[in-house]
Order: sequence, then C-alpha cells, then structure tokens
Amino acid sequence: MRAKPDVDLTIANYRRASAPKVVIAGRPGAGKGTQGTRLAQRLNVQYLSTGDLLRHEIAVESALGNAVNRLVAAGRLVPTGLILAIVETNLGEGGYVLDGVPRTLAQAEALFDQETLAPTVAIEIVVPAHVALARLTERGRGDDAPIVAGERLATYETETVPAVDWLERRGLLLRVDGHQSPDVVEQNVLRSLEYALQRCDESSVSNAQAIMPVLDNSACLVAGSEYARE
Ligand code: ADP
Repeated sequence: MRAKPDVDLTIANYRRASAPKVVIAGRPGAGKGTQGTRLAQRLNVQYLSTGDLLRHEIAVESALGNAVNRLVAAGRLVPTGLILAIVETNLGEGGYVLDGVPRTLAQAEALFDQETLAPTVAIEIVVPAHVALARLTERGRGDDAPIVAGERLATYETETVPAVDWLERRGLLLRVDGHQSPDVVEQNVLRSLEYALQRCDESSVSNAQAIMPVLDNSACLVAGSEYARE
C-alpha cells in the first residue's frame, strides 16, 4: 500500500486533467454554492449555478427572468428545456463545476446526450433535512420562506434523488458529508476526489487515463461513497 498522497498534489492531477466536469447535487441548503465555487477555483474550471443565473435574470427582468419568476418564487422547477438552453449557452468549452443540474432524471439523461456536456464525476453533499431547513431559514433568500423551502426540499426527494441515484448507478457519484463547517466539507470533497483517484491508481489504471474519464469505472468509486443519504 503506498503512502496516502497529499490532497493538494492529487488535486493538481485533476487540474492538469483535460476538462474535469463536475456536477454538484444536494438538498437546498446543503452548501452546493459554497463548495461548487471553491472546487471550481481549485480545479481551475468554470463555475455555473443555474439558480444564481435564474435569480440574476429575474432581477434584471429579462424575458427569461419574467418567464421563470413565478416558478422560482414558488420553489417549483423551471422547465427542463429552458435549463438545458441555459447550460448550453453558458458553459464554455472545457471543464466545469455545475451547481443545480441535474435536478431530474430527464435532465441527467439530457446532459449525457451531449458529449461535450457529459459530467465525469458527480458529488452529492449530504445534510439531514432538518439541518437543510434550518440553514435555509437562517439564510432567508426570497425562496427560503418556510413553505417554499419545504416545497423545494420535497422536490429534491421526489425529483432529484432519482437523478442522483441514476448517477450513482453509472458509477459517477461521490457522497460527501455536508453537515460540517465549510472548510471541513471542502476537505471532504477534495479527499473524496483524491480517494476516487487513488482507487483508480490502485486498480492500475494509468494516471493519464485515471483523471476523469476512468471514473466511468464504478469500481474506482464504490468505496468513495462513504456517506449514506438519510
Ligand atoms: P437550492 O438548491 O437552494 O434550491 P438553487 O439556487 O439551485 O437553490 O435553485 C433555485 C431555484 O431555481 C429552484 O428552486 C428552481 O426554481 C430553479 N432551478 C435551478 N436549477 C434548476 C434546474 N436544473 N431545473 C429546474 N429548476 C431549476
């Protein structure tokens, strides 16, 4: 067994890799935005949050913003066609950290329909429902009012969990304990990626290959899924 590599060194491998494409899932309030931004910086790739983008469009009262305003305010999902158009328009070439997609099985499948968009790894930040709700209440964004927040949490269970499970079945999912401080969660995310990479190394897949595409090989990830969703 070789020594555990330094996290940053290992992450440098990801950075060198051509285009890591990471989707971040998690209940509303799980910390996707915080972790997604940090990870994108680490990996030196673009960060895109569909929620942030929609809120911006709503604030400037663009046609798109006006079209989705009521749905977002009610905590309901925006139609998949619009979301995919947003993703296609705003994701450049190369790697990304995508926060907020997929939210449904249909969105997950659609991402994989386009080779340039297909994620190479998915991270679910796991927090218990009551913790998520408490964080949303504290945050107090427009769509965080208790009834709307409850609606969004319920939608996560009914719509998004099947998408996350689908990613897991494809061997792409890392689950990370999100019920910690942001710094600790960030370390968990990095270690999880590191662990996946290490498993790939141990199964003697070459490093060049190991970076992301090999994560298709679920054997590399099974042991990385340490945290079960409640
Ligand atoms: P959170 O994860 O805290 O619920 P987001 O900022 O990711 O917040 O999303 C806010 C809102 O934007 C969602 O409740 C939904 O109305 C809309 N939205 C964002 N991403 C999607 C998506 N992929 N599909 C449908 N609606 C979305």
